[in-house]
Amino acid sequence: MSNQFGIDKEIIEFSNRIIYELKDKFEEIDKIAEYNQLKVIKAMQDCKVNSDCFQYSSGYGYNDYGRDTLEKVYAKVFKTEAALVRPQITCGTHALAITLGGLLRPGDTIFSPVGKPYDTLEEVIGIRDSVGSLKEWGIKYKEAELKEDGSFDYEKIEEALKDETIKVAEIQRSKGYATRPSFTVEKIGELILFIKKRRPDIDVMIDNCYGEFVQEIEPCEVGADIIVGSLIKNPGGGIAPIGGYIAGRRDLIEKCAFRMNAPGLGMEVGASLNVLRDFYEGFFLSPIVVSSAVKTAVFAARAYEKLGFKVIPGSDENRSDIIQAIEFNNPDGLIEFCRGIQAASPVDAHVVPEPWAMPGYDSDVIMAAGAFTQGSSIELSADGPIKPPYAVYFQGGLTWPSGKLGIMNTIQKLKEKGIIEKL
Ligand SMILES: *Cc1c(COP(=O)(O)O)cnc(C)c1O
Repeated sequence: MSNQFGIDKEIIEFSNRIIYELKDKFEEIDKIAEYNQLKVIKAMQDCKVNSDCFQYSSGYGYNDYGRDTLEKVYAKVFKTEAALVRPQITCGTHALAITLGGLLRPGDTIFSPVGKPYDTLEEVIGIRDSVGSLKEWGIKYKEAELKEDGSFDYEKIEEALKDETIKVAEIQRSKGYATRPSFTVEKIGELILFIKKRRPDIDVMIDNCYGEFVQEIEPCEVGADIIVGSLIKNPGGGIAPIGGYIAGRRDLIEKCAFRMNAPGLGMEVGASLNVLRDFYEGFFLSPIVVSSAVKTAVFAARAYEKLGFKVIPGSDENRSDIIQAIEFNNPDGLIEFCRGIQAASPVDAHVVPEPWAMPGYDSDVIMAAGAFTQGSSIELSADGPIKPPYAVYFQGGLTWPSGKLGIMNTIQKLKEKGIIEKL
């Protein structure tokens, strides 16, 4: 079948040799997926999920049994006391903004011990001036940069923790679109222990975006107080059409609910309309979908390592998220890679991505996505800024065969352009 997509026999054979080499790695990924799949089923059984849970609710959404049960399922899976899982949370940034706004008060300080947070949080926090930022409400921000090698700078963190106004430490699990490493849950656990030893009063919040189900444990199992993510990434399983989640200690989740709705109107309001079945089914499928995305990332890492490109992380490294970066060192490589991903998609495959001056970026950006849900990045998607080192960041792959096809097609495009000569 791969021939029918115009992929050379040579590339198919190259790919199959790599997959053979990666057998043990894939087996490991399957084991994690199986563990997480059973964890989700067990939680659904323990919470007595039944067909009533999938019913429509409207208006204020009082007594939305399906919503409340789903939140119990999330709490069980993520080993927390409570959770908010809502279509009213528009995206990951919104979930993070709700959490920061819920936990902090004027005069408090947010502390990031892992350097700069995700781009969109700069405006939420007010690192870049923005209307309605936490800074406008008198909330301050402090960070400790990572060391040159990407490890935690414990000396700087220790120094920063002397600031009594710090109330929340925000730790981003995934590297996002930066060049630092992603942190495993175990590594995050070491950092939390360090912080809590010195400042047990600080609430530790984890930006868990792209991390869910990549490992067998999640951050609240190593001491995090609250975790936050998007449903059009990992935990939505490609089925959730919208939404975000916040899971953690009950007192903190309640604060977030008042921030999400209104003071006085907490978790008990918020209609689910018709999304609950999708939320449940997506969460059920998520462990396997995430394993497909991780296989796609590892396969791409190994293929592009062999083709002589710098890849982050390397194909042998332990993973904690689904993002893969490849540096092309020239714009054509980046552009052709994105076109290869697009042309192998189930939706919008006939569209040719072009770099453009997107608002908010300091260079042209190219993006590829042929997705069922707009902007969903658990579906195979790629993008990168047209500036050195011309790195593409890609993630997703709802199924492993579709991920494999996408990556083979990128190699095909690069080969046709003469950017790759020898396999
Ligand atoms: C995607 C992402 C966000 C923001 O999520 P959106 O849904 O794009 O608003 C925040 N942090 C990290 C690490 C992310 O990957």
